[in-house]
Amino acid sequence: MQWDLILVGAGLANGLIAWRLQQVRPELNVLLIEQGEAAGGNHTWSFHHHDLSPEQHQWIAPLVAHSWPGYDVMFPSLTRHIDQPYYTLFSDRFAHRLTEALGDNLRLNCPVAAVSPQRVQLANGDTLTARAVIDGRGQPDAPTQRCAWQLFVGQEWRLAHPHGLTRPLLMDATVPQCNAYRFFYLLPLSPDTLLIEDTRFSNAPALNRDDYRAAIKDYAAQRHWTLSALLREESGCLPLTLAGAPPPDSTSQQPCSGMRAGLFHAVTGYSLPLAVRLADAVAGLGIPD
Ligand SMILES: Cc1cc2nc3c(=O)[nH]c(=O)nc-3n(C[C@H](O)[C@H](O)[C@H](O)COP(=O)(O)OP(=O)(O)OC[C@H]3O[C@@H](n4cnc5c(N)ncnc54)[C@H](O)[C@@H]3O)c2cc1C
Repeated sequence: MQWDLILVGAGLANGLIAWRLQQVRPELNVLLIEQGEAAGGNHTWSFHHHDLSPEQHQWIAPLVAHSWPGYDVMFPSLTRHIDQPYYTLFSDRFAHRLTEALGDNLRLNCPVAAVSPQRVQLANGDTLTARAVIDGRGQPDAPTQRCAWQLFVGQEWRLAHPHGLTRPLLMDATVPQCNAYRFFYLLPLSPDTLLIEDTRFSNAPALNRDDYRAAIKDYAAQRHWTLSALLREESGCLPLTLAGAPPPDSTSQQPCSGMRAGLFHAVTGYSLPLAVRLADAVAGLGIPD
């Protein structure tokens, strides 16, 4: 069978492309392939109101799990409330919506061994062909750019009592600094559940998760929060580009998406706004014969 488009890797970028194509180009025969058990991995993806156009807000809305009308930032001698909406997606909802929308055209537990512009070699030896293939297999192992890193561990906790927060605290930089910039990130998900994330900038992508876990417990204790049940944990080493060549695939003929294409914000490592724009751009393209 010849596919119109094969998307390799069902992460944020390719998932959004598949979602958008399903809405505006349902006649296309699109296959989304993922090595894991579900699309999207284990992530919280957040974005600001002005990151997206009104039309983009509309088409991404079914994937959004939480929104708040504003948020706070705190530094040692400055605290500000920002009156701008903030939004969050969770990968479990993302996976659920994609499964509903794509049915059998989302193929899970299917590792890919090799990708070329019109051919995909599966790890089981099968070969698939398409009029176009987009490689969205996430962050390359070794970036060619000179990078620093944003290291973090985030934990979603149920508390014994309400935490009292009504809006996100995007940066609490009043915490002790270590080596480079450090802050805590808090998302109130319900009156007694909270995502608590310790984020540290570093020159090396070496994440000691136990150290971060202990720091989250200390931070909660200082805020007089009693942690009662750990619901979920996520972690990451996001690249912060300092200098250097573009990622290797951007000079080849292979179309790529998301982190694989170097489409992330140089200072935050965030990729959602660019992934949304890419999904719109792909949905507006003709597929080659
Ligand atoms: C924990 C975490 C939180 C983040 N929070 C935010 C945020 O709040 N806002 C924001 O904008 N950005 C955030 N980011 C940064 C960035 O947006 C994410 O990393 C985003 O998931 C990148 O999307 P992607 O599609 O490029 O890659 P990924 O989402 O990593 O997707 C790549 C997919 O390809 C699959 N894959 C890899 N190899 C193969 C193979 N051989 N065969 C088949 N499938 C394969 C993987 O299993 C994965 O599902 C976060 C990153 C992390 C790690």
